[in-house]
Amino acid sequence: MLDLFEYQGKQYFARFGIPVSPGGVACTVDEAAAAAEQAGYPVVVKAQVQVGGRGKAGGIKLANDAGEVRTHAGNILGMDIKGHRVERVWVEHASDIDEEYYASFTLDRAAKQHLLMLSAQGGVDIEDVARTDPAAIVKLHIDPVDGFPEATARRAAVDAKLPARAQDGVAAILVQLYDCFTKGDCDLAEINPLILKPDGQVHALDAKVSLDGNAAFRHPEWEEFGETEVLDERERLAKEKDLQYIGLDGSVGIIANGAGLAMSTLDVVNQVGGAAANFLDIGGGANADVMAAALDVINHDENVRSIFVNIFGGITRGEEVAKGIVEGLSRVELRAPIVIRLDGTNAEEGRQIILDAGIPADKLITKPTMLEAAREAVRLANGSEGGG
Ligand code: GDP
Ligand code: MN
Repeated sequence: MLDLFEYQGKQYFARFGIPVSPGGVACTVDEAAAAAEQAGYPVVVKAQVQVGGRGKAGGIKLANDAGEVRTHAGNILGMDIKGHRVERVWVEHASDIDEEYYASFTLDRAAKQHLLMLSAQGGVDIEDVARTDPAAIVKLHIDPVDGFPEATARRAAVDAKLPARAQDGVAAILVQLYDCFTKGDCDLAEINPLILKPDGQVHALDAKVSLDGNAAFRHPEWEEFGETEVLDERERLAKEKDLQYIGLDGSVGIIANGAGLAMSTLDVVNQVGGAAANFLDIGGGANADVMAAALDVINHDENVRSIFVNIFGGITRGEEVAKGIVEGLSRVELRAPIVIRLDGTNAEEGRQIILDAGIPADKLITKPTMLEAAREAVRLANGSEGGG
């Protein structure tokens, strides 16, 4: 699943004809001033982070001239909003607002149908509306086979008690949003607030879009979104080195070959009372370069207290992996001891290579089975209280 920033979501909306305000994205104060010039004053300067409630956190400011844009962009860039550092702002032409609504499409997996939610109470958390005034949210299931014709959209607008002068505009945008949701392969397409302007036009003032990762093969144009995905330091490094890596919160670093084995390794670590620090699949080519890169990535994780290398030799032969580990260890000064389980093709030769390397036992331990290796890795990660 790929979560888009507001500005990316708006660019995505625009492809499906949904009206959004003109604007530009900026990483510096100068760029923000240039974007404001393009958009036309007054403008709003908006922090681009993937959390809601940016306004309350001081991440959304109105600016009437270049001086104000510079002040606000300077304050917002680098700001921390609920643990997210603001790297970019979106600067768009400010809108006059008469009313704020809420609209979204999601997939109701249980019902195997699409779900429209529409409310006249927008601009606030929809969860709050759901709690305080659930009747204010119109929920409508849509059979994907039937689609979502304009007449249905209009009825939803009426049911949501939107004023007559907003109904046409809202219905038109709902049809476009459904198009974006289905043809655009979204898991979520949300507009909050969807605004009614004094001149009667309806318009998306915010955008929250999650793309369905499984459909990425149909969308080469999504590449550009991936480049701005928020990666932590470990994930950035792994991506650079072409490794399949997902950062987790535990203390046992994991390296395995093959996604299936990596998943089982996570499970077995959990079973014996540990918690994985990551998921790292080195795939088929477990040579010295790949192994050194994998160890390097894991070494960047301050939470790691032990490293569990779980390899089942198949196409990747045991002695190749062993050479990789020995060579990798000579290149990287590890922060934590390694526990190795090596099985499959040429495992015996592999174990011999590791033994011959003469690596001290406080740095490297080999165990014959996955379970024993997991126990040892968890014991090391949990320290003395681990009951060793
Ligand atoms: P969020 O709170 O992080 O979801 O950010 P939003 O983009 O939804 O903006 C929050 C609120 O800021 C909106 O509900 C509006 O009330 C206000 N706001 C944002 N853009 C504009 C604008 O162009 N004009 C005006 N008048 N208010 C805006
Ligand atoms: Mn919003």
